[in-house]
Amino acid sequence: MEPWDVAVVGGGILGTSVAYWLARRYDGRFAVIEKETDVAQHASRRNTGVVHRPFYLDPNKARVFAHAAGISYHLWKPYAAAKGLPWYQVGTYEVALDDGQVDQLHAYVGYAAENGMDPSEVEFVDGREMARREPNVRCEGALFSKTDTAVDYHAFTEALKADAEALGVRFLTGASANAVHANDSGVDITLNGRKEPVRSRYLIGCAGGSAIDLAHAMGVGTEYTDMHFRGEYWTINTREADLARHNVYSVPRHTDLPFLDPHWVIRANGLREIGPNAVPVSGPWSYHGLFRPLVPWAAKFFEPPIYNKIRLMVDKDFLSLAVQEMWSSMSKAVMLQRVQRFLPALKLEHLVSPGTAGIRTPVINRHGGIVKEAIEAPGPHSYHILNYNSPGATGSPAFAVYLVDRLAKRGDLDHLKPGPKPNGLWSWDTIANAMELTG
Ligand SMILES: Cc1cc2nc3c(=O)[nH]c(=O)nc-3n(C[C@H](O)[C@H](O)[C@H](O)COP(=O)(O)OP(=O)(O)OC[C@H]3O[C@@H](n4cnc5c(N)ncnc54)[C@H](O)[C@@H]3O)c2cc1C
Repeated sequence: MEPWDVAVVGGGILGTSVAYWLARRYDGRFAVIEKETDVAQHASRRNTGVVHRPFYLDPNKARVFAHAAGISYHLWKPYAAAKGLPWYQVGTYEVALDDGQVDQLHAYVGYAAENGMDPSEVEFVDGREMARREPNVRCEGALFSKTDTAVDYHAFTEALKADAEALGVRFLTGASANAVHANDSGVDITLNGRKEPVRSRYLIGCAGGSAIDLAHAMGVGTEYTDMHFRGEYWTINTREADLARHNVYSVPRHTDLPFLDPHWVIRANGLREIGPNAVPVSGPWSYHGLFRPLVPWAAKFFEPPIYNKIRLMVDKDFLSLAVQEMWSSMSKAVMLQRVQRFLPALKLEHLVSPGTAGIRTPVINRHGGIVKEAIEAPGPHSYHILNYNSPGATGSPAFAVYLVDRLAKRGDLDHLKPGPKPNGLWSWDTIANAMELTG
């Protein structure tokens, strides 16, 4: 059989977006290799479901994520309308619990502008005005991001998959890339249950929680390691839905670890949830149990390069927050207490059932720092995206354009025949030009 021209490993929202844009720009044989029986079974459906506006992202530290998120809001909005998918513009209050955090909110106003948001989309609200708008929320002040929106990223990925298939992309589902081996002409990919490897002239790694494992298997990104944190939610009794009428996030206590602070969120289906916490787990699909099984957990901790994790573990802030997170997994009362800091009216009996759990996989560099930006790691006949974390679902259509454009400029797609298709809802040139600003 002829080889694939490009195989994308991972059918999450990123891999699906990348495949879509490849087929929009080129003629060729494109495959998405996905181990599950359908796309978006992991982070791309097990997330908070917010189209995040990039007001909280430091443009110097997460420039690409911030631009991709900012641009993609304007892509998802018409897409949701055209496909009849949920689009529930709820808005987010980012609340400050002390004066230092109020200063942080003022910094966020600057970030919003630098990240391309219109000034009218964010509003600083003082504590008194907040007491009038959201009487149950206690804070010193808040930044209102008016256009944050609740969506269903699983539905977005399914719709994009259909669009990609219409352009000729093949989704090989139920196919796990168990071994990858680069040779002179491309990459051999051994799929579960098949003797003969699948051949591709080029591979793009978009494997989410196992992106590092895939890259390491090709000798790429070996200076990095990762950790998996399970984020759990609790669903709130519908009678208490109006305790807060918008999303409420608190300014992170530790700006390097923003995923360690729970929030009150409104889902696209109208349900309210609190969460997530962040419990260290052994693998990207460990949705149940704590420290179990112990052996893989320990193996994960001690896998190379071990120094990255040791350096992270000696960070006092990280350690104390991580311990709190584990407590909040064992006891919903602990999770509740953390939300009560800004929503004291929320009571234990309002938390009626566990919500979805999702797993974040931050990458740790050799200094023990948690990396804030997506990492691009070129390899033999391949390119790997690591650390594609929040707000990755928001930013995926623009990030995918940025990636395909970058690969083209590197000459990595020279084996493909250009075949630009007519603009649908999204214009390649507009997005590519806007993303060039990130360079
Ligand atoms: C708890 C939580 C809340 C979040 N909230 C938000 C939010 O509100 N807004 C937002 O924008 N972002 C949010 N994010 C981040 C966002 O969900 C991710 O950035 C995004 O979904 C990542 O997409 P992905 O395609 O890279 O990864 P994934 O969705 O994990 O997809 C990777 C795919 O690769 C497949 N795969 C892996 N290894 C192999 C292999 N060897 N062979 C074949 N297939 C393989 C997996 O099965 C998976 O389907 C959240 C994340 C979490 C965990």
